[in-house]
Amino acid sequence: MTSQAHSSACNDPRFEAARPSIPADLPPIARHVFEVLALGDAIGASELMRRVSAARSIKTPLISIYRALARLRTRGLVVQSVINKRWVLRNKGLAEPVLLLACRRCGSILQASAESFAYSAAALEPCRGFRVARGHMEAGGICARCCGPGRC
Ligand SMILES: [Zn+2]
Repeated sequence: MTSQAHSSACNDPRFEAARPSIPADLPPIARHVFEVLALGDAIGASELMRRVSAARSIKTPLISIYRALARLRTRGLVVQSVINKRWVLRNKGLAEPVLLLACRRCGSILQASAESFAYSAAALEPCRGFRVARGHMEAGGICARCCGPGRC
């Protein structure tokens, strides 16, 4: 099994129903980036560049990919794992903040709700003035598929 198929298999099954819809006003490169990520894989910027270039039949500069990702992130449509530097579409079916579980072996990213963190962060507001608008937490580890019988 390829790491791409593995990555898709690791996603929460509720994700299919919660996948964000593609905004009609996205510029062409951002639209291509969204469409590649909509396939369900966790992908780094260089691999995104390769796949978007193939879809457009023209080399797309890495800086254009980063600009598209920044645009999508501003809209809350994508999230990046700091641990494995890969991007995924944000699961809109989960309460904020989202917990990313990043596999250090295959690079897959699972998404789950981290509601208990939201409660703790909300408790900080009155005493420290910190306001959580949107965010994610992250944990690195080994996914269930990579940690199968005899593998961990
Ligand atoms: Zn894995």
